Amino acid sequence: MINKLKPDQYYQDVFLIDFDLLKKQGIKGVICDIDNTIVPWSEEEILQEIIDWFSEIKDRGFQICLVSNGTAKRVNYFSEKLDLPAFGQAVKPAGKAFRKAQTVMALNSSEIVVIGDQLFTDVFGGNRMGFVTILVDPMNSREFFTTRIMRLLERMFFKRGEEK
Ligand SMILES: [Mg+2]
Repeated sequence: MINKLKPDQYYQDVFLIDFDLLKKQGIKGVICDIDNTIVPWSEEEILQEIIDWFSEIKDRGFQICLVSNGTAKRVNYFSEKLDLPAFGQAVKPAGKAFRKAQTVMALNSSEIVVIGDQLFTDVFGGNRMGFVTILVDPMNSREFFTTRIMRLLERMFFKRGEEK
């Protein structure tokens, strides 16, 4: 069981994931967790950066499916907002919702990557399915907003630097 808890790749957040590398590894489909992976826990606002991130992945030819242990209501909300197929009440690490997502994408297990913030649900469940697994740090709201402010500041400084 221990080695099934090991993610294949780890990144601090989803924006750092190397999709060129995934493409080289034969990945064609992305199964993404929702809470604390793309949206801070219990929040409903989706950042423009996340919307752009998904469209970039789509443009690169990857299929995307959301699989979440959240309520059907919450998951359907994000499914509509992001225009992505989604399976809620997934009871990860159980395989049922993962299999549904795999069926929708019509891909082999080795062609799918699971992205999530939890070892016992996303990583363990994904590894058991034979998917490639990526762990990211959970976006708890406070940390998340600090990061946003830091990025905003970085951007301001870069802009100033460029203007000189
Ligand atoms: Mg999560």
